[in-house]
Amino acid sequence: MTPEEQQAFEEKIYAYVGRQVCPPTPARDDVNATMIRHWTEVMGDTNPAYTDAQWAASSRRGKTIAPPAMLYVWNQEGFAVTTGRSSDPQTDMVELFNEHGFTGVLGTNVKQEYFREVSPGDTVVIEMVIDQISERKATARGAGYFFETLATFTNQDGEKIGTQRFRVLKFIPQEQPAAAASEDKLEVPTRIASPRGHDNKWWWDACDEGKVLIQRCTNCQTLRHPPRPMCGECQSMEWDSIESGLDGEILSFTELHHPKIPGYPYPLVCAVIRLGEGTNLVANVVGCEPADIQIGMRVQGRVEQVDEKTMLPQFYPA
Ligand SMILES: [Zn+2]
Repeated sequence: MTPEEQQAFEEKIYAYVGRQVCPPTPARDDVNATMIRHWTEVMGDTNPAYTDAQWAASSRRGKTIAPPAMLYVWNQEGFAVTTGRSSDPQTDMVELFNEHGFTGVLGTNVKQEYFREVSPGDTVVIEMVIDQISERKATARGAGYFFETLATFTNQDGEKIGTQRFRVLKFIPQEQPAAAASEDKLEVPTRIASPRGHDNKWWWDACDEGKVLIQRCTNCQTLRHPPRPMCGECQSMEWDSIESGLDGEILSFTELHHPKIPGYPYPLVCAVIRLGEGTNLVANVVGCEPADIQIGMRVQGRVEQVDEKTMLPQFYPA
């Protein structure tokens, strides 16, 4: 993009600042106990103020309230969002970004403020505007612009319930690894590097040398994995390790298809394997069709180089 093109582009996008994405619009469903119950179950929130009508009746409020963090829930578009969204200034602006190569999208921040509680029977009304667009920024993901929408929520009496600011980065994605590899310039993507800290670096270092070690308490001889500083049986911090023979049995497994992270083969089977020594290990199962893998199957592991930088135990049907 030449400086002139960038200036012309920025004039167009900055014209969206202050535009209303949606006029005040009541939620399709009033605040209701069913949605509150579903939300609190999923979130594991057992506060009786949300779901226990009897408890709430004797409380200061005299009735249940919705969790404040459900603020944005009431006005979600629901299933319709999957079948295409009708045009509004935000979708038009996003389209403008896309047309100019800013096809990447990353939600970066959500900030909510709460002013007033709502209870079942209340109606939540949303109004949204495009509040800010940053100058062009160089980010780790690529060059782009942050834009922020501001949603204001009111109740059926026009009283302010809360606000939500949602910040999004629209960016030019950096060169795709596959395209880069074909030009022999960048490395083929490798797997995510193992996090090596004070308590587990020794384990990964051994893996690099082709060995899977199991930590052993030198006080009570109990084996443990993953590596950690203290024995769970006797609280001793003295330990050594033994080398696993890598014969094992699949206790559980999952077959990953999405999202496809660069550097990994898909479908990728990740299994919990009970090793012959008695500890469990999470590792990939390879060398067979995922459909042939079963819980209880005997497997044999080998430490192998799986990409340019990574050694990992890989388990094969025994
Ligand atoms: Zn011990």
